Amino acid sequence: MPHAADSRPHFAVVGGGITGLSAAHRLHELAPDCRLSLFEASSRLGGVIQSEHRDGFLIERGPDMFTTGEPWALELCRRLGMENELIGVNPDHRKAFVIHHGRLAPVPEGFMLMAPSKMWPILGTPLLSMRGKLRLFGEFFTPPRAPEGDESLASFATRRLGREAYERLVQPLISGIYTADPEKLSMAAALPQFVEMERRYGGVARGMWRGATKKEDRSSSGARYNRFVSPKLGMEDLIRRLAERLPAGTARLGVKVESVAKAEDGRWRLTFVAQGAPQQEVFDGVILAAPTFVAAALLQDVDAALAEQLEAIPYAGTAIAVIAYPRSQVEHPLNGFGCVAPLVEKRNVLSISFSSVKFPGRAPDESLLFRAFVGGACQPHLLDLSDDELTVLVQEELRELLGVRGAPQFCEIVRWRRAMPQYHVGHVTRVKAIEERVAQHDGLELAGNAYRGVGIPFCIRSGEAAATRLTEALQLSPFA
Ligand SMILES: Cc1cc2nc3c(=O)[nH]c(=O)nc-3n(C[C@H](O)[C@H](O)[C@H](O)COP(=O)(O)OP(=O)(O)OC[C@H]3O[C@@H](n4cnc5c(N)ncnc54)[C@H](O)[C@@H]3O)c2cc1C
Repeated sequence: MPHAADSRPHFAVVGGGITGLSAAHRLHELAPDCRLSLFEASSRLGGVIQSEHRDGFLIERGPDMFTTGEPWALELCRRLGMENELIGVNPDHRKAFVIHHGRLAPVPEGFMLMAPSKMWPILGTPLLSMRGKLRLFGEFFTPPRAPEGDESLASFATRRLGREAYERLVQPLISGIYTADPEKLSMAAALPQFVEMERRYGGVARGMWRGATKKEDRSSSGARYNRFVSPKLGMEDLIRRLAERLPAGTARLGVKVESVAKAEDGRWRLTFVAQGAPQQEVFDGVILAAPTFVAAALLQDVDAALAEQLEAIPYAGTAIAVIAYPRSQVEHPLNGFGCVAPLVEKRNVLSISFSSVKFPGRAPDESLLFRAFVGGACQPHLLDLSDDELTVLVQEELRELLGVRGAPQFCEIVRWRRAMPQYHVGHVTRVKAIEERVAQHDGLELAGNAYRGVGIPFCIRSGEAAATRLTEALQLSPFA
């Protein structure tokens, strides 16, 4: 509700996903006396985070977990009083599979995205030929590259580990996270820890052993599963808890911000459409927590050069088939959390998550729930298939790979177009240029998954940091 004669500073946050909500929540924590408006174009908060409880299933339509390896999401959950409601992954099957000539083979124990921390599991894996294994071990003796700027995942991994380990292990494990084209994915932006291992220790194997990883991480495979958590009631519970902490009336749902302009007094004028009519309101500070193509359009008249840099960040899309079967119709023992598909296998799925194995409480006892990911930067055309076509395609993949027979209990297709920002080579330099440009505009901040990390903890850090900068600039924070 607008306050006509209210002289308190008024902040706007544009975008009600996890980034915008974290920003609004932090603004309220730091400057509780200020007015706050959170604009969300759709009719609900959460952005890509969507959970639904239906017939004993917990359906996650977007992310299904976050990692505690980076502290920001866990810290937020603590502040929201929901730390005890976080559940870890099933302790029994902490492994993933890679599709290899149409069959599932486990990721060798201790192999972490790009680096082997144990020798025997690599020697025993069917994923690599003896020649590929020897080349992988040869990484230890491969001289470091003279630092000369950014490099793609394909270039770095082939150079250090050999083409076979890249194609059969590294590419599927990493592309699965970013739904990215490995020939374009920036090492500096997406995997700086491995660049640092090469720079500091001479290679990734050397880096692993010189203390760059913790001992408990070396016994899992593929990912650091001991750090994966999810709210017991689903990811959207985090959204609900955040929204509950905001002052009544903060969230303006179904309100799309159309433009941002500098007002005569140096504050920010937002134009938005509410109940079908265009309206304007002036704010002391604005955080844009929407995708960069939206921020670019909003800022076009404020700073065309900034808009151009934002527009240049590409996005990829993915579709998820959330599909359930009676347990009796699935042949594979599902003794892992899912499988990833190397590009060289030419499959129609990027990965399949065994959702009800990964976390408890995702399906009734007699059923199994899967999430199959399709599309990504390398197969964007698959998103144009109809729901029926995608359902058939995924059923066929499940039949071939996991021995799944008969009709599913249900299959829901979720499409996320332009939802995953792509960190291409040169991304770090671009983001620095964007940040320098934004710093010239007092009272304007950008936040989200397009800048310095796509995962939920990074989004929370980004939103909270934007809120902190804004309150510090206006000297509103008690800590400023
Ligand atoms: C399918 C999928 C699976 C993922 N899985 C994981 C996972 O398991 N773990 C993990 O850590 N991360 C995962 N991620 C990444 C992570 O979920 C996202 O990076 C994060 O949720 C993005 O949050 P956000 O608030 O920045 O953006 P979004 O969620 O995209 O929210 C942006 C919001 O801005 C709104 N908006 C846009 N334009 C306007 C406008 N003009 N006016 C007002 N509002 C506007 C949109 O409606 C939207 O609600 C996944 C991402 C996807 C797409």
